[in-house]
Amino acid sequence: ERLGPTITAGEILVEIMATSVGTGFLEPLPLLGPFPSGAPAIFIDQVAKLGGSAGIISAVGADDFGTLNIERLRRDGADISAIDVLPDMPTGTAFVRYRPDGARDFVFNIAKSASGQIRMTDAARQLISRAGHVHVMGSAFAITGIGQILTDAVADVKSRGGSVSFDPNVRKELIAEHGQAREQMREILAVTDLLLPSGEELEVASGIKGEEASIGALLSLGISEIVLKRGALGSSYFAKDGRLDSPAFAVKEVDPTGAGDCFGATYLTCRRLGKSPEDALRYANAAGARTVTRQGPMEGASSFAELDAFIRETGSET
Ligand code: ATP
Ligand code: MG
Repeated sequence: ERLGPTITAGEILVEIMATSVGTGFLEPLPLLGPFPSGAPAIFIDQVAKLGGSAGIISAVGADDFGTLNIERLRRDGADISAIDVLPDMPTGTAFVRYRPDGARDFVFNIAKSASGQIRMTDAARQLISRAGHVHVMGSAFAITGIGQILTDAVADVKSRGGSVSFDPNVRKELIAEHGQAREQMREILAVTDLLLPSGEELEVASGIKGEEASIGALLSLGISEIVLKRGALGSSYFAKDGRLDSPAFAVKEVDPTGAGDCFGATYLTCRRLGKSPEDALRYANAAGARTVTRQGPMEGASSFAELDAFIRETGSET
């Protein structure tokens, strides 16, 4: 924290969800929303709710969906100075419906929304010049030009002794098809201090098979901490000095969206505040678990007081 705020760059959206389980959007449906969303925005909101200083480089339209997001981030204490409000573009949207097996169908508008127009503005340069940590969210690479903004931010922050975290947040299919994404991932991994993969992202990042082999290969790149998210099974920490496993808290899952972002933001913020990996993992598990009990991706973002109460009430981890 002493080096300045945690920042990221990427999409801000509203999420609108079908209230019934089923397949897609081919007939009229009851919908619930708009909820503030966008993986990078959820991450930054969670950092801010924990009292960490945090800011985001992004863009919204001059509409209610944009206002909803900006006011939420402002209320929770995030720096919103580098969120551009574009007069001629709508705020990004994601319509989501859950299938019976838990898979999701989406209708996205990101590329042709304000989020598709994120640029390096004076306000963005200002924010970067004050930052102490850059979080790179893999989902943001769908936005043309975001790679350059993140690369510039990483170089600037690293030159001042700052640090970098990376959540790949990608699907294997995309990586396999696009050689450029593979190259982009290699470049980020080379400057990553904290890697936050989930599921198959670990093997996608390492380029090899097997958890242990992947961890070894990634640590040898110079990554100091890898924290693997395991959904309802909790999480694991890996570093040169060893490994820690932390079980999940037992909760009823209402809406899994946002768990990984709140988990990562909480782990990072705890570490930046000087907490041990063990304490950070426990708080992060609590943040992820609490998120899935709330409808809406950003609605379960937690303060330390809320996490302490949750840990007390939910009791021993399973
Ligand atoms: P996302 O779907 O948001 O990208 P992710 O795949 O990156 O998420 P997950 O592993 O799904 O990350 O969730 C992150 C963390 O949140 C887990 O490591 C766990 O601590 C907590 N968590 C997620 N789902 C549950 C659950 N059903 N019960 C308890 N804890 C959970
Ligand atoms: Mg998940």
